[in-house]
Amino acid sequence: MTPVVIIDLDDCLIPDGTAARAAIAAVLDEFSITADEQAVDTVLAAARREWRDNRRVTHREVERVASWEALWADFHDLPMPQEVVQALVGNDVRAWRLALDDLGSTADATTAAQAFRRLRSALVIPFPGVESALDSLGERHELWLATDGCRSLQRTKLLLSGLADRFQRVFVSGEVGHPKGTAGFTDAVRTALADDRTVCFVVGDSVTTDLLLAETGGWPFVRITGEVKFAGAAAFCRCL
Ligand SMILES: [Mg+2]
Repeated sequence: MTPVVIIDLDDCLIPDGTAARAAIAAVLDEFSITADEQAVDTVLAAARREWRDNRRVTHREVERVASWEALWADFHDLPMPQEVVQALVGNDVRAWRLALDDLGSTADATTAAQAFRRLRSALVIPFPGVESALDSLGERHELWLATDGCRSLQRTKLLLSGLADRFQRVFVSGEVGHPKGTAGFTDAVRTALADDRTVCFVVGDSVTTDLLLAETGGWPFVRITGEVKFAGAAAFCRCL
């Protein structure tokens, strides 16, 4: 039996929420807009408003895309009906227009949206210790990645992180067709295990998705919090 460790991506191996805030602040800086916490909150609220008001965001390809992720996701080539693609493309510029209006700025929203994509991409950097922890776990486990979101953004993040080659299997909810934590997603993982693989444990930061994946699969769970960094996850191995 080959032991497998199933690992989350966002806020487990690479920062997401904090990186989004940092990139927004950097955009505001470039526009000479005061980039304090309140201004960042204003942008995030505008992004949320624009995303939630779009009735196409429930399509299974994008249903687990967060509003701040939608600011730099590429929707063009997702396998969706053309009308859905068209409804989603341009979300970033529309959200930035709302945000800049709320901040009292007449700056160009397209330029802001492009700046965010550039600055956010530059912040896809693994947390300290992640590479060595994956090295250690990877010596005696297969590493599988399980992540919520749309295929284009999640796979881009994985490539930018430099971690893509570490993973033998990658499950993205938009590709699987079911959100992480649902029976459908867990079934897809279980089917891939076939008869010759067994899950040692699941690692993640979320108790609404990662923990549910572990629970529905009947697998041990290691939760990554501020106190438990992913780099320490190897210590939880119980299969060898
Ligand atoms: Mg996460």
